[in-house]
Amino acid sequence: MSDVDAVVIGAGPNGLVAANLLADAGWSVLVLEAQPDPGGAVRSAELTHPGYIHDVFSAFYPLGLASPVMRALDLGSYGLRWRHAPLVLAHPHADGRCAALSTDVDETAKSLESFAAGDGGAWREFYADFERVSDALLVSMTSPIPPVKGGARLALALGPRGLLDFTRQSLLSVRRLAEENFGGEGAALLLAGNAMHSDVGPDTPPSGFLGWMLTCLGQQYGFPVPEGGAGQLTAALVRRLESRGGRVRCSANVTRIEVRDRRAVGVVLHTGESISVGRGVLADVGAPALYRTLVGEEHLPSSLVADLTRFQYDAATFKIDWALSGPIPWRTEPATRAGTVHLCDSMDAITEYAADLAQDKIPAHPFVLTGQMNKADPTRSPAGTETVWAYTHVPLRPRGDAGGTLRGRWDDAETQVFADRIESEIEAHAPGFRSLITGRHLLAPPALEARNANLVGGALGGGTMAFSQQVVFRPVPGLGRAETPVRGLFLASASAHPGGGVHGACGANAARAAIAADRLHRIVGGVRDRVRRGARAES
Ligand SMILES: Cc1cc2nc3c(=O)[nH]c(=O)nc-3n(C[C@H](O)[C@H](O)[C@H](O)COP(=O)(O)OP(=O)(O)OC[C@H]3O[C@@H](n4cnc5c(N)ncnc54)[C@H](O)[C@@H]3O)c2cc1C
Repeated sequence: MSDVDAVVIGAGPNGLVAANLLADAGWSVLVLEAQPDPGGAVRSAELTHPGYIHDVFSAFYPLGLASPVMRALDLGSYGLRWRHAPLVLAHPHADGRCAALSTDVDETAKSLESFAAGDGGAWREFYADFERVSDALLVSMTSPIPPVKGGARLALALGPRGLLDFTRQSLLSVRRLAEENFGGEGAALLLAGNAMHSDVGPDTPPSGFLGWMLTCLGQQYGFPVPEGGAGQLTAALVRRLESRGGRVRCSANVTRIEVRDRRAVGVVLHTGESISVGRGVLADVGAPALYRTLVGEEHLPSSLVADLTRFQYDAATFKIDWALSGPIPWRTEPATRAGTVHLCDSMDAITEYAADLAQDKIPAHPFVLTGQMNKADPTRSPAGTETVWAYTHVPLRPRGDAGGTLRGRWDDAETQVFADRIESEIEAHAPGFRSLITGRHLLAPPALEARNANLVGGALGGGTMAFSQQVVFRPVPGLGRAETPVRGLFLASASAHPGGGVHGACGANAARAAIAADRLHRIVGGVRDRVRRGARAES
């Protein structure tokens, strides 16, 4: 008799989505989480002062709102409330103009028109193309490979010629995508800035696809935030799970998956405690850690072990949270209303930043992704004050510093110096910003990993978003599905297709694969029993 039907290792959004779907199917589910709190990279905490709620990792959830997987969970019924800033995104240019993305297409078009005559109309057409396919695209992207239903809907929506154009556009770099469609730099900044949420440079595909997708999602859905902090998204997932009998146990680090006859039969915790499972183990764990540490290479085909040596994590991340005594005094008006502000002075400056990263150099002028949380949600801090964060990418293994003398050791001194560098970028666009800081909390790459083992070296996406590790190549060349070579074990984390972001698809795909495999296992077991009984009766 097993302790539970399924164990989910890791209470990140993918683990919690997987657990919810298994519980919906009537399975008894236990989620084991290494950290003291659930949520993975979706957590909030009072990092600076009491009463100031900061999102420790992720903060904006266009995919959380738009993903068919998350929508189907109806988290609104479990306490989740989405809030929107007056403006989605602002990207100030060095020349004083500012590109703005709004959920009102007229406002976005007006902003882009100010960069080049005709770009407003071009944006309307560009976005209309996205809107035509966005539902089918989201279904395709969040379905297991091959995405038969979503793919068919997409092909139908596009038609043969449209499909060719769409495929070609998806293969572009974001610089080329902007050049082909717009005359001015405003649209390029919006598209490239959004592509820079990933680890793919602006001159490399699929940055065009990534920038297009996120910018147009922002136009359609905004960049919503959960009222009360990112942790409220996690709380809703946990509440839903518990309402169906599922359980989450924190401070429970899984150190081994028990494999017998090539089947996962249980897990072992850091305390030595064993938990047996009857139907499956779903791992919201990075692929290398799952296979090398939890399963062990002796249980894996040598081809997989070899493929893992080529697994590529995405760039590392450096994050700052601030408590401010008032709103940031931006020079440009749109930035004063935007939830998200991207800072990097021009398209060429974005390329220079990406070039530093490509050479494993700590960037001299980091691309700064800033979140002004109170614009959407005033509950984040006392009236009149603000909580703001910023992050940028840094190399996973720095070999130098394009801006000075940092070595990438990320000790306290280096961490403070790099935080000052990020603050200088904001101060240049908002003189007086520094004088508002009443509290500051820094997370250099090692600190990120210490708070969530999946953020290996500070990588936030569970693996690169480069073409070489997408779809059938994620996490390693194969089917790109949640099934693993160990029966009853499923990869449920962002290391699986479709990768990073809070959309729940990796978890949902793993849960569906587990349910389908269990059904098959039972049918085969039933047939085998009948054959055995028949053979006994004959003898
Ligand atoms: C700084 C930062 C900013 C981001 N911003 C955004 C954003 O604004 N919007 C967005 O959509 N995405 C954002 N992301 C990405 C997004 O948060 C992740 O892609 C997403 O959380 C991945 O979900 P997951 O469930 O796969 O893994 P995670 O959220 O990383 O959760 C994995 C969980 O598994 C646990 N775990 C790992 N190993 C074990 C073990 N052996 N035993 C027990 N537990 C274990 C970990 O402790 C962790 O809680 C951001 C990420 C970071 C780090």
